[in-house]
Amino acid sequence: MLANKSGNKPIDMHVHVVGNGTGGTGCWLRVRGWHRPLAAMMLRQIGLPAEAMTGDLDRLYVERLLELVRGSSLGAAVILAQDDARDEQGRLMAGAGSFYVPNDYVLKLARDHEEFLPAVSIHPARPDALEELNRCVTAGAVMMKCLPNCQNINCNDRRFTGFWERMAEGKLPLLAHTGGEHTLPVLRREFADPRILTRPLECGVTVIAAHSGTKSGWLDTDYFRVFAEMTRRFPNLYGDTSAFNVPMRGGHIPECLREPLASRMVHGSDYPVPVHGHWAWMRRQVRWEAFRQAQRNQNLLERDYQLKAAMGFPLEHFTRIGRLLPRPPTEV
Ligand SMILES: [Zn+2]
Repeated sequence: MLANKSGNKPIDMHVHVVGNGTGGTGCWLRVRGWHRPLAAMMLRQIGLPAEAMTGDLDRLYVERLLELVRGSSLGAAVILAQDDARDEQGRLMAGAGSFYVPNDYVLKLARDHEEFLPAVSIHPARPDALEELNRCVTAGAVMMKCLPNCQNINCNDRRFTGFWERMAEGKLPLLAHTGGEHTLPVLRREFADPRILTRPLECGVTVIAAHSGTKSGWLDTDYFRVFAEMTRRFPNLYGDTSAFNVPMRGGHIPECLREPLASRMVHGSDYPVPVHGHWAWMRRQVRWEAFRQAQRNQNLLERDYQLKAAMGFPLEHFTRIGRLLPRPPTEV
């Protein structure tokens, strides 16, 4: 499957899908307070009108995303589902989350479009967690995405051991948010620490720390060193470079370009998060010409790719994820 979808071309392994439920997709979106202008800004960035938020968002969003992948250097994008936040007993925490994307929606989008690879999202405290995991593995999921700090998931909770073991057995990598978060409501600030991922790592799951523990706001704790130290202890731990083109997160790029970390980094954009080369240029990570050229490109996926290539990330950085997904291209 992956061979058809990407060949040896780069893969963006961190791309969000959102929707308001139009067209019966099952998605929902709840944008409040200061997140409203932020959401409108993101829509503008990706080339959709602000009215799309209350209109046929689901269809427009997917059409635009397909257009961007096709018009980029990428062979495929891993699109992410988003499960609900739950309490310790696995009960829904009403009003806690800000958006929801069903597993069946990303699985269907990936069946319909060869540009997409499906990442499901399953809160391990869900009463049907294992059943849903098995169902998604069979349906072709290539990854499982969660945000421990926003969905209230203590990955180290011993009750989840069976869940992680099943993921390891199904060779399904875990993509888990680490570091600060400012686009979604945070329920457990302390779960931004990459050490929250110890149990799945011990169970043999391939874990990708989204954002590699970097901070998103001035006041966030920077967990990059913790992440880097953990990669020395766990050969199955990786980090992604998603949202490295926002003001704060890119500060550790020079370390990510050097071994031993370089071979543990994978490429993700965190689309539709804005991509601006100004910060990389100011830190002298890219030259003026490369910055200007990337900035002129209206395709955010391509702009992120171009900026990272200009920073010095090698081709393997963009293709590495292909080896970590359940079906490597050689087996197809
Ligand atoms: Zn993200």
